[in-house]
Amino acid sequence: QDTRSKIAAGEVVERPASVVKELVENSIDAAATAITVEIENGGMTLIRVTDNGEGMEREDAVLAFERHATSKIARADDLEAIFTLGFRGEALASIAAVSKVRMETVRQGSSEGTFVEIEGGKLISQGVIGRPGGTSVTVSDLFYNTPARLKYVKSPKTEASRIKDIIDRFVLGYPHLSFRYLSVGKQVLYSPGTGHLDEAIAAVYGHETAKKMISVQYEWEGIEINGYIGSPDTARANRAFQTFFVNGRYIRSPLLSRALEEAFSTLIMVNRFPMCVINITLDPHDVDVNVHPAKTEVRFTDDRRVAAVFFHAIKRALSGDGMSSEQD
Ligand code: ADP
Ligand code: MG
Repeated sequence: QDTRSKIAAGEVVERPASVVKELVENSIDAAATAITVEIENGGMTLIRVTDNGEGMEREDAVLAFERHATSKIARADDLEAIFTLGFRGEALASIAAVSKVRMETVRQGSSEGTFVEIEGGKLISQGVIGRPGGTSVTVSDLFYNTPARLKYVKSPKTEASRIKDIIDRFVLGYPHLSFRYLSVGKQVLYSPGTGHLDEAIAAVYGHETAKKMISVQYEWEGIEINGYIGSPDTARANRAFQTFFVNGRYIRSPLLSRALEEAFSTLIMVNRFPMCVINITLDPHDVDVNVHPAKTEVRFTDDRRVAAVFFHAIKRALSGDGMSSEQD
């Protein structure tokens, strides 16, 4: 296996959490409604993602590991019309280049499927298996053949917490999908996938916190703001408790965080960081999303307008729900 493919792999697979992200995105793209993530040792010895998605045909199962093999995009100028999370066909190839992978996949409605085993990018074996429709990908011994990469990996505890962050994000961004997350056989999180955001919030932050959140629903000139806001009970809260999606895509936005904090600033809180899970929907032409897969920053064509609409939505929600604010 050549050095170039190992280097290329490093761009997609930085750490265990990036493997989890890519595998779960594949499950979502395969129209799964229930996704289970299992890890051991912070994902370093084992990551397994199991879904009930459409599965793959035998021929496609091996092909999926080839670089630039994607079933999701026909031509380069289709880029504008991408509705799937993946489209580069790089993730599985990259993951398999730096670990030992076993994939099991069965097309929905079929009784027989395929397993494929790949180590360090090399096909080790393949054959026939039976299992329910869907796909499971097991990644073992991540970076076993790239010692340089291994050095960047933090303690299992730190890596596990990064994985948890990624899972939280999926749970909050896809409330209609059911997620189960287990670490060393112990269930850490379960989200039923009812489609109700407050239930997804309960799965991530607990029922007590979810109950106290305030609903936000607002629309102004094509900018829609939906979700929940609240003040965390813990003084340990920070901006990690603020989750924003723009047109379904997770983003970090100092601009929106500041607007949220400003709107809450007249309220007495345990600390100065309100929490939120907010979906912003607006004309895609008014968002400049960097298409680099790892980028979470966005720029709006009119930053100040979006921030102002968001601020107003929060203020209105706060005054409408009996939570006292000094002036509004
Ligand atoms: P991309 O997602 O960019 O297409 P990947 O390397 O992540 O590239 O996956 C390659 C291909 O393998 C996908 O296009 C898809 O056809 C198939 N695939 C991967 N994971 C799954 C899954 N969980 N269920 C069904 N098909 C999958
Ligand atoms: Mg993918």
